[in-house]
Amino acid sequence: MSVSSDAPESITILGSTGSIGANTIKVISECKEKYRVEALTANSDVKKLAAQSIATNAKFAVIADESKYTELKDLLSSYDIEVASGSRAVVEAAGRNSDIVMSSIVGAAGLLPTMEAVKRGARVALANKETLVCAGELMMRQVKESGATLIPVDSEHSAIFQIFDFDNPHLVEKITLTASGGPFRNACIEKMRDITPSEAIAHPNWSMGKKISVDSATMMNKGLEIIEAYHLFPVGKDKIDVIVHPESIIHSMVEYVDGSTLAQLGTPDMCTPIAVALAWPRRIKLNTEKLNLAKIGALRFEAIDNEKFPAVRLAKEALEKGGVYPAIFNSANEAAVAAFLDGKISFTDIVKIVEKTMDSFSASEPESVCEVMSIIQESYALASVQ
Ligand code: NAD
Ligand code: MG
Repeated sequence: MSVSSDAPESITILGSTGSIGANTIKVISECKEKYRVEALTANSDVKKLAAQSIATNAKFAVIADESKYTELKDLLSSYDIEVASGSRAVVEAAGRNSDIVMSSIVGAAGLLPTMEAVKRGARVALANKETLVCAGELMMRQVKESGATLIPVDSEHSAIFQIFDFDNPHLVEKITLTASGGPFRNACIEKMRDITPSEAIAHPNWSMGKKISVDSATMMNKGLEIIEAYHLFPVGKDKIDVIVHPESIIHSMVEYVDGSTLAQLGTPDMCTPIAVALAWPRRIKLNTEKLNLAKIGALRFEAIDNEKFPAVRLAKEALEKGGVYPAIFNSANEAAVAAFLDGKISFTDIVKIVEKTMDSFSASEPESVCEVMSIIQESYALASVQ
């Protein structure tokens, strides 16, 4: 823990080699006197992890893929950096004593390490929305018990977090998540079946990892974000709305009972919500492109085409049913996205597989993270063979 407000805060980045992880390193490299790196973790990109560990002077580097341990050890042999491998070591990294944990692993693989950080009462910057979707109730309960601070990194949730009156949630009429609409906003519905992986990962506004890029194309991402918002903000399920806003300048809005709607705006650059989460409730200076509304000229808004993008309706159904369903919704989607990227299924099969997998389970209320993990594994396996 920091001894004085001037001492640098320590940060552990789970998933440092990904898009959010690398942007986090970019943000902290702009304010080196404020942050130092405790630990970095990655799945299999051992060269990038080693280079990041050396550049940031990390104390601990973990590669989840155990077959890469020797390579990591060799790459870091002349540095004073502790090295480990395996998914238990990723959890260990999250449990080490750092002020901040950036949770930026993709998918449910981030659940156990994120829970570990929450349990020890860390400040957790949460990019990994899938963990909250799978185990929202258990995680928010653990946040309260341990006194952890959970700050969203997802741009929409970062926006709402900055303008939401947490002291008076009853005065909030609704929250509205904005959605860019993804690369197929104007595509004709008959052509959706033939969309290829390379078309699906080419997002018009944001540069992101492959999985979230496919989620944005199907709008599964917005579905996951509705469930994420439900856990982060104390409003009813019926008070969470979505609107398509192709420019991705307004990141989300909160409407109050007096008719006043507050919005947070910025250029589409994840470094800003990352900086907000790291420094909250303060702010740090960043060299990002600042907003020039005169240059942008006009902002557009439109309703979601639910026929073309059935994922949002399906997410609302998972949230309404509650219990195991959000975890099944998420894990079936993870399996289907992996199959789509492997060329095994078509783009429109993704949502069909998620729906079919949800229909194969009966309602129950998971009471432990262990139970959630079983549901995740079971639904992933079932969705993989659909
Ligand atoms: P990415 O694919 O670029 O990076 C994922 C990271 O997780 C990598 O470092 C990878 O090594 C690690 N990882 C993957 N599987 C792992 C495993 N089994 N065990 C341990 N580590 C593993 O993903 P990303 O785009 O950076 O997204 C990360 C998270 O942030 C996702 O949950 C995503 O939804 C969320 N998010 C991303 C963005 C964005 O702009 N990229 C925006 C909002 C939210
Ligand atoms: Mg988002």
